[in-house]
Amino acid sequence: MNYREILDKIEIQLEGEAHLDELAKKKQDPFKILISTILSARTRDANTRIATEKLFAKYDTPKSIAEADIEIIEQLVKSSGFYKVKAARIKEVSKVLIKKYNSNVPDNYEELISLPGVGSKTANCVLVYAFQVPAIPVDTHVHRISNRLKWVKTKNPLKTEEALKNTIPKEFWLKLNRLFVRFGQQICLPLRPKCEICTIRDTCPKDFSMEEAIKKKKKTSK
Ligand code: SF4
Repeated sequence: MNYREILDKIEIQLEGEAHLDELAKKKQDPFKILISTILSARTRDANTRIATEKLFAKYDTPKSIAEADIEIIEQLVKSSGFYKVKAARIKEVSKVLIKKYNSNVPDNYEELISLPGVGSKTANCVLVYAFQVPAIPVDTHVHRISNRLKWVKTKNPLKTEEALKNTIPKEFWLKLNRLFVRFGQQICLPLRPKCEICTIRDTCPKDFSMEEAIKKKKKTSK
């Protein structure tokens, strides 16, 4: 099976949309996509949705967030977890956007990654979801599934990003995160993947060696 066939087969079994995809389809501005991505770190889509809706109902521009009271921002984004860190981060990012970019979000990786608290995954999410620039945001789902499929053999998301870019034809980059995030939430779950109902079960090598190595390491370090 080639990449196109695998991605098509994955897509037909998925329901709903991931949060960033919803924003992209509603053509939300790049600032909202950047802030949503920062708020989405280490939390579920449902929590990010609540936090972003509350925040943007009150403050939805770099200026309004930069000038807002940090404690009010903290309360608005509380549902996203790590809310104190995230509130400080989005306020700081807003200030830098005003100062360096005339309140606009840059549309290239180098400038995005230079923003405070913006890592590779966030920068790539903004490129894909806000600007439709081909990139591969690698979160925990993309990292895990790419290893299970043996598309890569890597130990961390950064290495996975590098390896995927060398492996996957560019025409599929824009859809990879969009599909794998939902696939990882609905079928190829972290703990009990639903292989018995998965549409690619016959061709998937089901390589769990990366996860087993992590479990083993955790056990021996206890
Ligand atoms: S067969 Fe199992 S491991 Fe392979 S992609 Fe499907 S759910 Fe994931």
